[in-house]
Amino acid sequence: MSAGLVQAAYIVAALFFILSLAGLSKQESARAGNYYGIAGMTIALIATIFGPESQGLAWIIVAMVIGGGIGIHYAKKVEMTEMPELVAILHSFVGLAAVLVGYNSYIDAPVIEALNPQEAHAAHVIHLVEVFLGVFIGAVTFTGSIVAFGKLRGVISSSPLNLPHKHKLNLAAIVVSTLLMIYFVKADGSMFALIVMTLIAFAFGYHLVASIGGADMPVVVSMLNSYSGWAAAAAGFMLANDLLIVTGALVGSSGAILSYIMCKAMNRSFISVIAGGFGQEVVISDDVEQGEHRETSAEEVAEMLKDSKSVIITPGYGMAVAQAQYPVHEITEKLRSQGVNVRFGIHPVAGRLPGHMNVLLAEAKVPYDIVLEMDEINDDFDETDTVLVIGANDTVNPAAQEDPNSPIAGMPVLEVWNAKNVIVFKRSMNTGYAGVQNPLFFKENTQMLFGDAKDSVDAISKAL
Ligand code: NDP
Repeated sequence: MSAGLVQAAYIVAALFFILSLAGLSKQESARAGNYYGIAGMTIALIATIFGPESQGLAWIIVAMVIGGGIGIHYAKKVEMTEMPELVAILHSFVGLAAVLVGYNSYIDAPVIEALNPQEAHAAHVIHLVEVFLGVFIGAVTFTGSIVAFGKLRGVISSSPLNLPHKHKLNLAAIVVSTLLMIYFVKADGSMFALIVMTLIAFAFGYHLVASIGGADMPVVVSMLNSYSGWAAAAAGFMLANDLLIVTGALVGSSGAILSYIMCKAMNRSFISVIAGGFGQEVVISDDVEQGEHRETSAEEVAEMLKDSKSVIITPGYGMAVAQAQYPVHEITEKLRSQGVNVRFGIHPVAGRLPGHMNVLLAEAKVPYDIVLEMDEINDDFDETDTVLVIGANDTVNPAAQEDPNSPIAGMPVLEVWNAKNVIVFKRSMNTGYAGVQNPLFFKENTQMLFGDAKDSVDAISKAL
């Protein structure tokens, strides 16, 4: 394949990636968006493998068969609830790849065809800066994503790591790395400086994500998504591959926009989250229960639903764990056929990844027009007879509004307590992801329906 043809193929692939992002922004077009992405990636792979610079075709194919085999195996096996962990670990691979590309590009520097010595020198300096920044971003993404993976999987505690002087430590890592970059360029590429910076960046990435508390994890996941894009773009510069630069920039900027949206949804400042909770007083939540709670049964809930004119369902992570979306759709249809107005209220960070609840409800074929965003439905709770809180906890916690010392203070929540009756589906009195006690459970109009959410909803469906 000639170089010109490869460039043309790259432009077509980049267009497909842009169409893919546009498609993924709406439920109705998300499937088409995925196909555009697959088409773009196929074109990109063919152009890269058969392009003029491609070497060792056999090696590439062996690597693709092994990598593709592992990828297909895990993608088939992964549960919907494990998706965020998978995404986090994949980000770490992008980070590691950028580190390896950086070292490779440093050791085996590209030959610069410059016109005069000054240009050659400038190009060399630019290359050194690319290597240094690429390795730095890649290393931060690598360890940061591994910590995010551990926190989402529950192998690392979701509460924030609070080292003394943590902000000074972060600042020192940035300052020392900047000084090392200056030295690296001045010394015409010092392996020592590169290795020391890599170790600092590994520690920095680890510390940055470890210091962020559970409630801020949605922002961290989308932020690491963004970093992985910039790491890929940096690798693109080092390899002089335009498509990698474009794709990396698309991922980097869309991840940054998503982080901004998540921050707005949680009423957090972006800077404070990425600086590891800067300016937040960390208050250890007390797990002392706050009063008496009342329990109910599936039959009583079914009766209550039959007598209701309007019902709102607010799903959360527990619905994903229980895979309760199918029976939830079943009771929705039964109630709607009896003239009950049933709608869904979706909190922007419900579940464990952006859009988690929308995906589950779409999978169960719940009509899109009754699935509303938090802002669209929050004022309607006081005119609602019954709210079913199915496996949600932090996203319906009134402490966010009532307790200024709460770790989730200020986060907008679904104001379910304004409804006449609230039924909370969960297995125990345990806290949600943020580890904060929920006063909703002790309100007068709240009743708890204990048990696995799928079993409970199935039982209600039967009783209906
Ligand atoms: P939470 O994580 O706050 O609570 C989930 C609840 O579901 C728990 O209280 C749990 O209680 C219950 N549950 C678990 N399994 C079952 C089951 N099988 N049947 C019934 N109930 C079950 O959920 P929310 O969706 O309200 O909030 C999401 C949280 O996750 C927020 O803190 C958010 O910041 C965070 N987060 C969100 C991300 C995102 O991008 N959306 C990413 C990372 C974190 P019990 O154990 O008693 O059953």
